[in-house]
Amino acid sequence: MPTNNPPIFDGHNDSLESFLALNRAPRDFLIKNTEGHMDWPRAEAGGFNGGLFAIFVPPVMTMKPDPDMDEAQHINPAIYQPVDFSHAREWTQKGMESLFSLAADSQGRLRVIREIRALEKALQERVIAAVMHFEGAETIDPKLKNLETYYKDGLRSLGLVWSRPNAFGCGVPFTPNTSPDQGPGLTVAGKELVKACNRLGILVDLSHLNEKGFWDVEKTTSAPLVASHSCVYSLSPSPRNLLDKQLEAIAASGGLVGINFAVGFLRPDNKRDADTPLSVLVRHFTYVAEKFGVDHVALGSDFDGATIPKEIGDVSGLPKLLDALRGAGFNEEDLAKIAYQNWLRVLTDTWK
Ligand code: ZN
Repeated sequence: MPTNNPPIFDGHNDSLESFLALNRAPRDFLIKNTEGHMDWPRAEAGGFNGGLFAIFVPPVMTMKPDPDMDEAQHINPAIYQPVDFSHAREWTQKGMESLFSLAADSQGRLRVIREIRALEKALQERVIAAVMHFEGAETIDPKLKNLETYYKDGLRSLGLVWSRPNAFGCGVPFTPNTSPDQGPGLTVAGKELVKACNRLGILVDLSHLNEKGFWDVEKTTSAPLVASHSCVYSLSPSPRNLLDKQLEAIAASGGLVGINFAVGFLRPDNKRDADTPLSVLVRHFTYVAEKFGVDHVALGSDFDGATIPKEIGDVSGLPKLLDALRGAGFNEEDLAKIAYQNWLRVLTDTWK
């Protein structure tokens, strides 16, 4: 593990889903497994110390738990169809079982994190701190009856939507060169869900949410605004990215954006071409840091859920990104903020 680098806490990975899609046992994460972006040996080599581990409910038409793998190229409108509660429950259950069996098999090398002190300890000890995140709230009962149960199970971060409508709000499609302003804002239940998350201390994630929904959260929430895996719209016009006024609101709230490594959200042409130089990724970090402050930009890799720049390749390539950020003028203090301190601050301000 590179000792000169700070710990790295990352806003988004789809490794749990990728294991389900590949039909592999979660414990395979602990051995070398080069099919995906992440496994324990490569995480250790890259200095990856944890992040939000997404639990995802796949579209009914594919039944494949592979949320973002072809994000920029999804053209089949059927993937944007709403899913029903029992389908959502079933896949959420599978994701949770994967996470807990992985933690149980890891002999302390991967811990499911429920509170800040445990997160700080895991970062210090350089083991993997896994925060349970639902990517879309379809499994939450619209009257919120089961939210507290999921909280007790370990849910600490909730994306209101994936890229489809649900009982709470409306997600954006991946169509390049279209606006994030597509579809209506949050429903009454959506606003209630935001308030309930504030009460319990669950992070509300804005990635995949449309613009009207974003502003409804901004008006409703008492917590910092967070987009766990999105990029800058003015550098790459994908509706999955954030407009400057949204980034400004995030900064004003003390929140952050985790920069997504998905090349389709980084490149000006939105092409899913892995042959994308690291400088294109770095530009999103410098843009947010220079315009809105280095306290509001962090990592949101989308490992195992997206096509990422070849130069990074997988989780073991994270030190290359840190070096590229150094090369772009970030000092060690900035780097520590980007690598983990901003996430730690936001989670401290959000969790109870
Ligand atoms: Zn996603």
